[in-house]
Amino acid sequence: MLKKLFTALFLTTLTIQCKAQQAPLTTVNTDVPKLVVGVVVDQMRYDYLTRFYDRFGDEGFKRMMNEGFNCKNNHFNYIPTYTGPGHASVYTGTTPQIHGVISNTWYDKFKDEEVYCASDNNVNPIGTEDRAGKMSPHRLKTMTVADQNRLHTQMRGKTIGISLKDRGAILPAGHTANAAYWFLGKNEGKWITSSHYMKKLPKWVSNFNTSKKADSYLKEWNTLYDIKTYKESGTDSNTFEGGFEGKETATFPYDLKKLKDKNKGYSIIKSTPYGNSLTADFALAAVDGEDLGKDTDTDFLTVSFSSTDYVGHNFGVNSKELEDTYLRLDQDLARLLTGLDAKVGKGNYTVFLTADHGAVHVPAYLKSVKIPAGYINIDDLKAKVNNYVKETFGEEKLIKKILNNQVFFNYEILAEKKIDHEKLQNVVSHFLLQQEKVSYTFTREQLETGNYTIGLPYLIQKGFNQKRSGDVIFVFDPAVIYSFYETGTTHGSGMNYDTHVPLLFYGNGIKKGGTVTKTKITDIAPTISALLGISFPNGATGDVLPFVLK
Ligand SMILES: [Zn+2]
Repeated sequence: MLKKLFTALFLTTLTIQCKAQQAPLTTVNTDVPKLVVGVVVDQMRYDYLTRFYDRFGDEGFKRMMNEGFNCKNNHFNYIPTYTGPGHASVYTGTTPQIHGVISNTWYDKFKDEEVYCASDNNVNPIGTEDRAGKMSPHRLKTMTVADQNRLHTQMRGKTIGISLKDRGAILPAGHTANAAYWFLGKNEGKWITSSHYMKKLPKWVSNFNTSKKADSYLKEWNTLYDIKTYKESGTDSNTFEGGFEGKETATFPYDLKKLKDKNKGYSIIKSTPYGNSLTADFALAAVDGEDLGKDTDTDFLTVSFSSTDYVGHNFGVNSKELEDTYLRLDQDLARLLTGLDAKVGKGNYTVFLTADHGAVHVPAYLKSVKIPAGYINIDDLKAKVNNYVKETFGEEKLIKKILNNQVFFNYEILAEKKIDHEKLQNVVSHFLLQQEKVSYTFTREQLETGNYTIGLPYLIQKGFNQKRSGDVIFVFDPAVIYSFYETGTTHGSGMNYDTHVPLLFYGNGIKKGGTVTKTKITDIAPTISALLGISFPNGATGDVLPFVLK
């Protein structure tokens, strides 16, 4: 009897679990959003949501946090946490192991050259003559959720990708996008694309470019509120910040008109919060220009706010400039959401917001408050490895390249000299591990034969692409970065400061609530696929987050 009861209970639980898991996949949602807007904030740590919360308005971050669903413990599940891999992983639902974007720039061993994640010599710039237009998603090996939506809707559902950075626009939008637009600064100050997407800029884009909107942002950057009220950052003047060429101190105000000539013309806008404002302006123009969210086929608008990353790299996590950038981004986000209410209608669209990676506090600052941190001279380290290998094997050219914490071997010389591949891996790995500030190493052999399920080895394996990655991977101590100056910050590691990023869902089909259950960056694309009732992008390895969906 008891056994029967248990069985019945077990079966009921199982059924409930199955229902909860599968409901979004099997039921046809007749009320799918007319528009999905994916927002990536470049270099946004999770704690920026809580750190600046009190100063946010009601219609920006707070609206998504309080009326939508807040995944408070969302992490990147691979190393390296860079911009290209980050954008690719958010939208493909998988990691560099599968989608192949192993870094922003990597060594292509088959072509024997360094390649950039979005560069493409086979396409032409559109809207400019500049090489900045020779970009496409061709190095991305799998599909994005926006690609899957295009297939599902017989290409009727549109995709438009927008970001100041080419990779922030191109990788999210995917292969089948109607358009991806990125910002060309320099002397041009306009939005451009490539022949991967079209032959000629549409009228609304050329109109936007001729409207001289970019010029309107070449103005003074001062704090939004009285600087004395900025309590969530260090002093305005300190030794941990970079700053702009042509200005002695990294202190407010910044006269952009005056500084532009020494800081690559219109490109200076990218390094200020006005770059995000310009991105929001252009995104709203795209909703109108492309009639997004107007019919029953779901459209995709992918927006990546890049200025947060430029400001972070330049001024660091704890700067007044960063605090101001997030208070202003909050206003731009509010403008985007209220614009969508007016243009698409509240309840007709779904937004998710996340980041492509976090950032470490400026290591020099951490050191000043007694937290272990530091800098490593990568050229010294490279020279040491090369010398050691040369001495050990009596051959100079065994190492082809050391880039992105990966050592690439010269396979031809290895074969010629009959040197065992695995032996060289072990020698290099052991040598690296003896170096100061190197805390872990992994060999190709380990990553190809092991199956790691937790911790750092798991993160390394998920970032290791068997075909494209190197032969030995090395990891630095926590908060150790390579930089020539001790100002500003960076990212790329598997530590929490780089992996823990916001994940907010809001709008059509989304529950109100939050969780501290751990979620992964690769869960976003499967969750959006389930919301839309479409297949997952072909390489997706993440899971649907059932608690997010109604
Ligand atoms: Zn980034």
